[in-house]
Amino acid sequence: MISNLIKSIFGTRNKRLLKDYLEYVSRINDLESSYQKLKKEEFPKMTADLMQKYKNKADLIELIPQAFAIIREASIRTLGLRHYDEQLLGGLALHFGKIAEMKTGEGKTLVSTLAAYLNSLTGNSVFIVTVNDYLAQRDSEWMANIYNYVGLSVGTISSGMDSKQKKTEYSKNIVYGTNNEFGFDYLRDNMVYDNDEKVQGNLDYAIIDEVDSVLIDEARTPLIISGASRQSTEHFKKIHNLAKRIIDDVSNDLYTSDEKQKTISLTEDGLKKAENLLIEYKFIEDSESLYDPKNIQLMHLIDSSLRAQLMYKVDIDYVVEENQIIIIDEFSGRKMPGRRWSEGLHQSIEAKENVTIQNDNQTYASITFQNYFRLFNKISGMTGTADTEATEFQQIYNLEVVAIPTHKKMIRNDHVDLVYLTMKEKYRAIVDEVKKIHDKQQPILIGTTSIESSELLSKLLKKENIKHSVLNAKHHQKEAQIIADAGKINSVTIATNMAGRGTDIVLGGSKLIGSNTIDSNSIDEVQKLGGLHIIGTERHESRRIDNQLRGRSGRQGDPGESRFFLSLEDNLMRIFASDKVSDIMKKLGMQEGEAIEHKWVSKSIENAQKRVEAHNFDIRKTLLEYDDISNEQRKVIYNQRDQILKITDFSEVIKNIIEQGIVYVLENNINRELPIVNWDLDNLMKILNNELNINLNFDVLNDKDSSNYYIELQAVINKNVIEKIQINLKDLNEKDRSDLFKNIVLTVIDENWRNHLNAMDYLRQGIGLRGYAQKNPKNEYKRESFEMFEEMLLSINYEITKILTRIKINNSNKSNTSNITKSPTMNSNKKSNDPRCLLNSKNIDIPRNKKCPVTNMKFKQCCGKI
Ligand code: ADP
Ligand code: MG
Repeated sequence: MISNLIKSIFGTRNKRLLKDYLEYVSRINDLESSYQKLKKEEFPKMTADLMQKYKNKADLIELIPQAFAIIREASIRTLGLRHYDEQLLGGLALHFGKIAEMKTGEGKTLVSTLAAYLNSLTGNSVFIVTVNDYLAQRDSEWMANIYNYVGLSVGTISSGMDSKQKKTEYSKNIVYGTNNEFGFDYLRDNMVYDNDEKVQGNLDYAIIDEVDSVLIDEARTPLIISGASRQSTEHFKKIHNLAKRIIDDVSNDLYTSDEKQKTISLTEDGLKKAENLLIEYKFIEDSESLYDPKNIQLMHLIDSSLRAQLMYKVDIDYVVEENQIIIIDEFSGRKMPGRRWSEGLHQSIEAKENVTIQNDNQTYASITFQNYFRLFNKISGMTGTADTEATEFQQIYNLEVVAIPTHKKMIRNDHVDLVYLTMKEKYRAIVDEVKKIHDKQQPILIGTTSIESSELLSKLLKKENIKHSVLNAKHHQKEAQIIADAGKINSVTIATNMAGRGTDIVLGGSKLIGSNTIDSNSIDEVQKLGGLHIIGTERHESRRIDNQLRGRSGRQGDPGESRFFLSLEDNLMRIFASDKVSDIMKKLGMQEGEAIEHKWVSKSIENAQKRVEAHNFDIRKTLLEYDDISNEQRKVIYNQRDQILKITDFSEVIKNIIEQGIVYVLENNINRELPIVNWDLDNLMKILNNELNINLNFDVLNDKDSSNYYIELQAVINKNVIEKIQINLKDLNEKDRSDLFKNIVLTVIDENWRNHLNAMDYLRQGIGLRGYAQKNPKNEYKRESFEMFEEMLLSINYEITKILTRIKINNSNKSNTSNITKSPTMNSNKKSNDPRCLLNSKNIDIPRNKKCPVTNMKFKQCCGKI
């Protein structure tokens, strides 16, 4: 039998791989008889044994025969299913990091247990990725019988779980879950404030079921966690009015300005006025000070609004076009669509110009599936249809497709397409065909490419009084039941392509989980009728999806038939193939209602599909190329976060941050190339006073001739800043101080990263619009986003320093600082926009029963709407 397997496979590389794998298969088979004699309790022991062997430096490859043989035996005993040799081949392909292409119904769920077991011997969790929650649940419950028998634990991740539950599930040996949930958990793990809150653990090995769906179809849109941005648009408008009143008040000197730097500094009087206005506008309470840490954000916004109103001029710094503010590059005078000023400045200008304030749905974190799955040490996949996309798998994921022969010969009869002139004729013909087949009671599955088309067909069938079910990929569980029954005698089922993916259609109808208990009479009957009859109502853009539909029938050697009905009015035909096909049709002198059925037609349709496939591949590749740029940056940020989460003593880190922060403000305000007399020290003093809350008198540093002047300056500022911070934090003990530092550092990093992500989004959207003569937009994007990122990294230090010099600890929040690092749990759905709370600015919700660490009020009172 084994040598027969090979004959059915073409392609020498594929052949060679299978030949290699077959050597393992015979070694696995050799162990079978001795494993049959094992007692139940010996299985977990053997697992422990193999784990120990791995620890003692055995390569997993050496453990293949034993591991596979153990799982096969456990499967026979628990589920009554003996892995076929072909399934062993599939399991080997998975272990070797390939995509096992195995037709629908070949038992891929069972195949994955082999590689999952083997790879869990490393002690790492193995992830099995499914396309929906229902399948994760179904497969984990079903396969847990085997895993538990050999002493492994099984977890299931589902979207409704809280982090504690998830953490427990992730700690199991084998973890089932959807691609979405795995990806989101990864992103969320990189937003936590305490290492203990991470749920996901090591990304070692993943087996992706329906891998084409996950890595190709879903790869076009990245995973995004988003929520309302930190300030509502209303706030910007209010702050705009507030700032305007400061500007309009000419009775006092409320601010000073620096044209060159485009900065505004409020004077003592100005600050007093701002404080009063904030109280009047109900941003802060009577008793509160502007300098409370929680009000730093407000100061920031007022500052932005003042700059927007006083320093940024329409048609010089920006233009207003189509209800948008577009930046003008100060050097080139070129418009920069898509780019946005950060830190609320852009919104302040939008408020000023009375255009729509673009602020909603800020991206907190995002990643493409491509880049998520690249984080694993090894991935592999299974699907019935990978072959048409083999190049993409290879190029993007370095995944090779191995076609595994079917267990029984495939005997489905795939008819040539029928092509009609109009859609109307096509649907007429489909209904006639359904009637004809249905009259014999043969089960029919009709595949459509859209919900609309499903509904249209359903209407037509109703008119003919043909009973049928419709499903459209919305209710996974319910649909799984319906699709499982699509093989019943007499049944007619209409489904969009994706509906019920992963569910096996057994002739005669089936129970959902791995059941072989259908009464065999009805199987025989349906087999005699010719098995499941597939009708395609349109060619999909991608041949792979058509193959999926066909593959629903003829599983495991069953009889079956398939036929696609097309018309020249179908999208694919209209756009890509109609000229050629209609030429052919004219030549043949076709009449209305007649269909053409010819090899040439099929060929030119296939060519059209290939062109669309290539085009879609390009789109995904471009998305990936863009994401690769932010991927590098994401790694840097997540890495920094990880390090910070691990630190217990912050003193050194903070010292460093302050030093860098001071370098930042100096570099931005002093040109070292110029002689010292030209340095605008008065301005620097003003800035230091306003932003770092220190009063310096540079006259102390009389020695302006000294070549060390800059360094001395730096040292003096440093000393003053550190003193200031020490005074601010004098009431905190070591531990609380560390907690506070951690909180502030993470807050600032996260907030800057979010702003950066958004700026990148805008940049990407706009980059194509820019008139770059002969320039490659992707390179421009790369260059600009890199510049932005560098700037962000530098400014983070300064921002932290600023906050620390202004922070005030009062007794009420001192007593509660131990709360500071307690988890603000991410919740992207809940939003609150109360600007009074520093934590709120992160758009992170604290669990209801906790207090706000900043105001020490009940979270609800402090942060309002939850
Ligand atoms: P696929 O994912 O490849 O489409 P499934 O994993 O859903 O296939 O399995 C299809 C059906 O085949 C299931 O009902 C399962 O019980 C059955 N099956 C799988 N492997 C075997 C086997 N070795 N022997 C008998 N039946 C099997
Ligand atoms: Mg499956």
